[in-house]
Order: sequence, then C-alpha cells, then structure tokens
Amino acid sequence: MNILIINAGSSSLKYQLIDMSTETLLAKGLCERIGIEGSNITQKVGEKKYERTLPLPDHAAAFEAVVAALTDAENGVIADMSSIGAVGHRVLHGGADFTASALIDGPVLKAIEDNIPLGPLHNPANLTGILACRKIMPDVPMVAVFDTAFHQTMPRRAYLYGIPYRYYTEWKLRRYGFHGTSHRFVSAEAIRLLGNPAHSKVVICHLGNGSSMSAVVDGRCVDTSMGLTPLEGMLMGTRSGDLDPAVVGVIGEREGMAAQDVVTMLNKKSGFMGLSDGLSSDWRDIYAAYAQGDDRGVRTAEVFAYRIRKYIGSYAAAMNGLDAVVFTAGIGENSADARRLILEDTEFLGIRLDEEKNRRNELYIQAADSRVKVMVVPTNEELAIARDTLEIVSGQ
Ligand code: ADP
Repeated sequence: MNILIINAGSSSLKYQLIDMSTETLLAKGLCERIGIEGSNITQKVGEKKYERTLPLPDHAAAFEAVVAALTDAENGVIADMSSIGAVGHRVLHGGADFTASALIDGPVLKAIEDNIPLGPLHNPANLTGILACRKIMPDVPMVAVFDTAFHQTMPRRAYLYGIPYRYYTEWKLRRYGFHGTSHRFVSAEAIRLLGNPAHSKVVICHLGNGSSMSAVVDGRCVDTSMGLTPLEGMLMGTRSGDLDPAVVGVIGEREGMAAQDVVTMLNKKSGFMGLSDGLSSDWRDIYAAYAQGDDRGVRTAEVFAYRIRKYIGSYAAAMNGLDAVVFTAGIGENSADARRLILEDTEFLGIRLDEEKNRRNELYIQAADSRVKVMVVPTNEELAIARDTLEIVSGQ
C-alpha cells in the first residue's frame, strides 16, 4: 500500500509518499509560503525534481498542488491519487485525549480542535491540512499521529507543575512533551538492538533544531524535557529551554513587552541564536565559532552540552539506572563534536566514549569498558507515521 504522510504547518505543508510493501520513499515534497506572496512547491523523486512557483492562498490550494506534483506526467510518481491507500497526518497536540495514533473521524477531529488552546499555532494548521486533504480524497482512510502521545505514560509526578492544582484540573496545564513519534521510533529501535526489550532503561537525546530528551523504561516513557509547549528543556536553535519564569515578568516590565511577546522572543530569538548574540541558530555555525575560540560559540556550546549532561544524570536518577544513551536527529546523528562535549566527565555514570567510533558515527560509540552503551540511531518520523497508519487502517 502507498501511504501519503502530511505534516501541515501554519504556512507550509511537507509530504512524503511511501510504498509500505518495501518501506521505500517514492516522493518527498514541500509547499512553502502558503497564504504569503511567493508561494511554491518543490518535490524530489530520486534524482528528478519538480519545482513550481504558484499562488497557494490556503492549504486546500497547497494540497491541489501536491496532487499535481505527485501525478505530473514528467516528474511525478503515480498515475492518479487512487493508488494512495491511506494518509497519515502529523498532529502536534493530542492533549491527554490520545495515548496512541487514531483513525480520523468526527470525534477525533473534535478532540484535535478542543486541544487548540494547548497547541494554538500548530493544531489549527494540522486541522486545516486534514480537511484540505479530505476534500480531495474523501473516501481514503486517514490517521492522526500525535507528537504528544508517546509521553502520555509519564507518571503524574513527572507531568504536574508546582502551581495551583486548579490550573491542571480546569485548564489542563501540565507537561505533555513533544517529538513523541521520534522518541518512540528511536527508543524501540535501540531497545531492539540492545536485545533486552523487557528490561531496559534508556535516555533518548533528540537533538535537532528543536531538541528534547526522554527517559524510557521498558519501552514506556517516564519523563521528557519539553512541557506544556516545546519551549521547556534543552537549549535549542531559537528556543531558550528551561528558565526561571520570573524572567518573563522582568523582561516584560523593563522592555514594556506583553507576556505573550516575551514568550515569542523565548521561542524565536533565544537559544543558540540569542545566546550567541545573533551569530546563528544552526549548530554547525555555533561549533565552528567554538572551535575558533570565539566566545559567542564557546558559551553557547557549553550551555547546550552542560544542560543535556545534567538531564542525562537526572534521568539516570529518575529511572534508578541507565543502560544506554541514544543520540538522534540532525545534531545527535551527525555531530561527533556535540556528543563528545555532552559526554565529557560522565564516567561517574558509567559512560565512556570511544572517540574513534564517535568520529565515524558508528551505531555503538562507547568504549569497551563503558558500563553504559552509547548509540547513534537515526530517527525517521515519517516512516513511524506511515507504519502507524498502515497498522490502523489494516485493522479496520
Ligand atoms: P529539525 O528540528 O528542523 O528537524 P534537524 O533534525 O534537521 O532539525 O537538525 C538541524 C540541526 O542539525 C542544525 O542545528 C544543524 O546544524 C545540525 N546538523 C545537521 N547536519 C549536521 C552535520 N553534518 N554536522 C553537524 N550538525 C549538523
């Protein structure tokens, strides 16, 4: 079965078409600047590229452009849309309503809508994407795969904030966590490779533009670093990660900014970008500056690595043990320098890196006498979404 994966953002729509009989990627594309001047679509099918600049006033128009690209006589990949058996949609916030992926029907659409207050930027875009897709493919089964679902196994002690309890009961304010599809995919792969699915304690470090970590015991998430929104936790490309919430009040007062504007600054202008004084939100630039002794890079890389190291230690304590630390996503999979800085001085936890293996991005990069395994496991969120979609529609 061919499965189409849709990841709709507020002004973008990413998609992949996967042949699930062999788990082969058939096509991959992106609509950008939806609702903005200069909108365009690009699609790659092997070496073949399809590019058009065309007006995309809304997600429905973007989806029509996706259909045209996939079925293009010259650079397309399928004759018509009837060869697509199901669609998997990435949805940011499932709140406490979804512990797993779900076949999209009326109640599921309503629940995604009800969770808009928790994901005000993403959930409306995800919904629009689903509706646009449904209009063109009304009879094709569709599945929603939630970024939050994997973390729903967290115990209450890990997800409650220390604020008046009624904010939790009335407004559902609690920690949810994100990147769940990646954490689930990578932890399952690591546990399978470790050969001990029944008893395992692993820490997943998903380090990309957005970064998050999770503590996974016997395949179940017991803690994760992102919270109510993706702002909590690691130092990220443009997000601050953990900070004293009083900072919001102080900056708001000194700069005459509304609280929501300060939060936008913490999301969009902080992290690598902010701490490096505008140098870059990209780890490669930060590390290049670090290597040259430029303090903008040195301080940013140090805070980034130190914070992750602290989380590894705290998760080892939370799980009362540690079998493996697993790195994934853009930085985690590719930057031996980041992994080396993060794992400096962690012998106490039983972690020792083999720098040669680390440099070669091998699957296992720990030294022979390391008690804890250190792994590099590539994530594949789209494949995880496609597998869920296939499983759910096959069970219908
Ligand atoms: P996103 O969260 O947008 O999916 P990615 O997982 O693609 O992000 O990660 C982007 C980050 O990965 C950037 O900071 C980039 O510098 C880093 N990165 C990507 N490739 C490499 C590489 N070969 N070496 C070091 N860092 C890399």
